[in-house]
Amino acid sequence: MNLAKFKRRLIRAIRLYPILALTVLALAYFLGAFEKKEDPLIAQSTVITALYLFVGLVPLLFIIAFIFLGGATDREFKKMGSRNEKFSTSDPFLLDSEKMFGYKLALITNRPPVLTGLTGDLYKADDAAVCSLNTEHIPPVINCECGFYAYKEFDDAKFELTLNPSSFLIDVDLFGLGFIYQRGYRAESQVVRKLRIPKRCMRCHTLPARVFVANYKLGYASTSWWQWQIYCLLCSKGAKPENKLTITQMKGALAIRE
Ligand SMILES: [Zn+2]
Ligand SMILES: [Zn+2]
Repeated sequence: MNLAKFKRRLIRAIRLYPILALTVLALAYFLGAFEKKEDPLIAQSTVITALYLFVGLVPLLFIIAFIFLGGATDREFKKMGSRNEKFSTSDPFLLDSEKMFGYKLALITNRPPVLTGLTGDLYKADDAAVCSLNTEHIPPVINCECGFYAYKEFDDAKFELTLNPSSFLIDVDLFGLGFIYQRGYRAESQVVRKLRIPKRCMRCHTLPARVFVANYKLGYASTSWWQWQIYCLLCSKGAKPENKLTITQMKGALAIRE
């Protein structure tokens, strides 16, 4: 069984836990766990011991399953990371003159709206990368993680989108020094060529997407931010006019010239 499937099953099982617990309690009640009976079907002490075992063991099993899942996910992530990090040439500075065009995911946050990487870095539609780890770096630096990333293949970015449904797919041209990996690029500067608008409303997932709506998100430790999503006409109805933008207005605000 693969990890994702195991995780889905585990979460489903946890959702069923309250029902299971109630059933067990009801069963214990009918077996006379909570009152003295003359001639019980099963001895009261046995039923109570079974209840204790249930209360203690089942959550413990869930905890063990989650620890196992956490470890396995970390290992898989590391494996994927090392695979992604492999350069396609032995020396990344020896580049073929390859035109760097790719696809990636971005969130739209803040007011006025700003493109935001999944790691939280803000950038303009036409921008040069900055390194958040070392101010001396002019990205990309080989042993650092700085620079603008993009996938070569549209399908890779599309798959990533299914894992990050609140983000948008964008098409980018990359310039300057660029490292070429097996699945994509990490480069010095980037121009966003296209903001791909999802077909469905990001709230009801049913009706066609029409209007950008800003929502105020509350995070941990007093961090909060505005996030833009695209909604259908129905879902966007309740939003205040100042929290709405048409698709054209959004592209204008982000300075994306398609
Ligand atoms: Zn760096
Ligand atoms: Zn909707």
